[in-house]
Amino acid sequence: MVPVLALVGRPNVGKSTLFNCLTRSRDALVADYAGLTRDRKYGEGEVGGRSFMVIDTGGISGEEEGIDSVMAGQSLQAIEESDAVLFLVDCKAGLTPADEMIARHLRTRNKPTFVVANKVDGTNPDIALAPFYEMGLGKIFPTTATHRKGVRAMLDAVLSEF
Ligand code: GDP
Ligand code: MG
Repeated sequence: MVPVLALVGRPNVGKSTLFNCLTRSRDALVADYAGLTRDRKYGEGEVGGRSFMVIDTGGISGEEEGIDSVMAGQSLQAIEESDAVLFLVDCKAGLTPADEMIARHLRTRNKPTFVVANKVDGTNPDIALAPFYEMGLGKIFPTTATHRKGVRAMLDAVLSEF
């Protein structure tokens, strides 16, 4: 089985950076993957001999209020298409109402969800991660997507579930 991982989170948390990191290429699109649309980007990744698919959700504006804008259609679709959700939050921004809205939505889905606390660089992880545990989504994986830090440990944990 090639698990499909959806990258979900409010704008600017580092989803596309992580996508590029996971697929190791800006061009790792899989054009013939079922359901391909303009606004969801599909890529292939591989780690330790294991393949996976990753979906970047680029189309969220986040400028309006409410669950419908934060969790724009593309994002909701990506969640439904996925085997697991990588829910990105931003350590520098801290826990935001938009994060809490997304967390509420994810708790209603029966999907393995992994909280990825990105932009942990330059923070004290013990302090930076603490607020995100309030979302009640379990273990949190700190990453610095811009430097690929923490990404392997996170992926190993995610892929070990499949
Ligand atoms: P997206 O909107 O969720 O797709 O976020 P992007 O991947 O476009 O990243 C938004 C900004 O955050 C960019 O300027 C990235 O370079 C920056 N960024 C992403 N990951 C990290 C990180 O781990 N640490 C820091 N300091 N900046 C990051
Ligand atoms: Mg993006």
